[in-house]
Amino acid sequence: MAWPSVVGVSTPFDPAAVVAEFIDAVSPYDPHPHADPVAMIGVRTAVGEGVFAVSDHVIRAMCKALAAYRDPEDRGVCVGCGGRHLDENLHCRDCGRLHGILGQVIAQHAARVAAEEAAEDRS
Ligand SMILES: [Zn+2]
Repeated sequence: MAWPSVVGVSTPFDPAAVVAEFIDAVSPYDPHPHADPVAMIGVRTAVGEGVFAVSDHVIRAMCKALAAYRDPEDRGVCVGCGGRHLDENLHCRDCGRLHGILGQVIAQHAARVAAEEAAEDRS
């Protein structure tokens, strides 16, 4: 089966072209290049469209690529509120909690101060 060539595609970010490029990049390593396609992938956007018959090898590669993707903004979950909006300093935009080493140091310092104040109150 011949794969659509994307040589000459110049659109900066055409999702259909990106899919075609991905197929072109992984297809040479298909251990069963003559096996029937197992899926049809259709992509239609304002800048382009394409329908691709993909092999088991390609669909597995796509699934692995998608599973490995992590949003650049994904910095984990806040242990305080469960929110998913930690900024680059691991500061929760939802509840204000700090994470990471700095967050731990600040939390430990706050706990120590609170403990000292509690001890002074008792004396
Ligand atoms: Zn939070």
